[in-house]
Amino acid sequence: MTTLDSRAPFVLDTHEIARRPGTQRELTLSEKAPAGMGVDMLGVPEGSDIDLELRLESVMEGILVTGTASVHTTGECVRCLREIDDEMTVDLQELYVYEGDEDDDSPRLEGDLLNLEPVLRDAVVLALPHNPLCVPDCPGLCPECGVRLADDPEHTHGEAVDPRWSALSQMYEGNDRPAGGSDATGPGPGPDEEK
Ligand SMILES: [Zn+2]
Ligand SMILES: [Zn+2]
Repeated sequence: MTTLDSRAPFVLDTHEIARRPGTQRELTLSEKAPAGMGVDMLGVPEGSDIDLELRLESVMEGILVTGTASVHTTGECVRCLREIDDEMTVDLQELYVYEGDEDDDSPRLEGDLLNLEPVLRDAVVLALPHNPLCVPDCPGLCPECGVRLADDPEHTHGEAVDPRWSALSQMYEGNDRPAGGSDATGPGPGPDEEK
């Protein structure tokens, strides 16, 4: 088992209330986010501020921690790849049991110390949307030319196509066209045609 350091971020010292059921302590603190808190498209940037409002309650089995954590989130919209820079507040609730208790489902206190980080990490990851969007109804990208439709809602493709894309699409059409009568019967036109 690792030994907690009382000076480490997210390690809380409960000695004032430990083993004194009915007592409680409230604390407000700000810590820097650890690395790797998030999912592929969205996460809490390392080193950004995490503001915690916590209540520690001494109960028979251990210390009940409840409260909220406010975090910054950054990532990319899954539809239009626009940068997302947002904030969210997650609820925390966890019972830390005293060492030696039978309950294996709960995290343990180490002496009077508890480590909030795994609980915080789980709460944040659970609360993050798996398909983050820049705005709830992000229309995504134009399938024809790739512009962000949110930037240009009137956007249509009529006669006037961007000349660069027009040239490109002609190139593709040229490639798709069979090279001169390959669909005719008779001798195969090339080695690739038959298996
Ligand atoms: Zn978007
Ligand atoms: Zn377009």
